[in-house]
Amino acid sequence: MRIACLDLEGVLVPEIWISVAEHTGIDALRATTRDVPDYNVLMRQRLTILNEHGLKLADIQKVIAGMGPLPGAHDILNRLREKFQIIILSDTFYDFAAPLMKQLGYPTLWCHCLEIDGDGCVTDYHLRLPDQKREAVKALHRLNFKVIAAGDSYNDTSMLAEADAGILFRPPQNVIDEFPQFPVTNSYEELYNAFVTAEV
Ligand SMILES: [Mg+2]
Repeated sequence: MRIACLDLEGVLVPEIWISVAEHTGIDALRATTRDVPDYNVLMRQRLTILNEHGLKLADIQKVIAGMGPLPGAHDILNRLREKFQIIILSDTFYDFAAPLMKQLGYPTLWCHCLEIDGDGCVTDYHLRLPDQKREAVKALHRLNFKVIAAGDSYNDTSMLAEADAGILFRPPQNVIDEFPQFPVTNSYEELYNAFVTAEV
């Protein structure tokens, strides 16, 4: 049995933080793992900005509730599910992702946790473990699964390298240039074909 590991933001749903930046008008929140390769640096920066502007979890959840999956995302999950078991490996947080998971038919999601204080402010975040995407693929290998993985960004590249086959989906040019070993797909049709033809 082969397992498909998919990134969430940029592959199945829009970038959550970019949507928050657009809705709040705070440009500094536009930075993503596409721009800042070190996730901890990026998250510290985001939490500082939220607190400076007095934004609470509920404010962010309101924005996310108005977002939907990318067009065709639910369909591609259903098509892939006929041939693979799917696990979504994301560096987002359960508090953020919940409304989007409902719209995707509640696929399995492994991501991180936020720490919220009594006033609803985001005070900290907890990674389940460092480099969890790669560690998840390693663990699946130990269970004797073959893994095909797809993602769009820096924080996916260790997962793609660890997998038996790694696929980029609509990546920015700097990721394409730095990781030429991974095939690039630009539509769900191409992504589906890359999954079903991957040699693992
Ligand atoms: Mg992504």
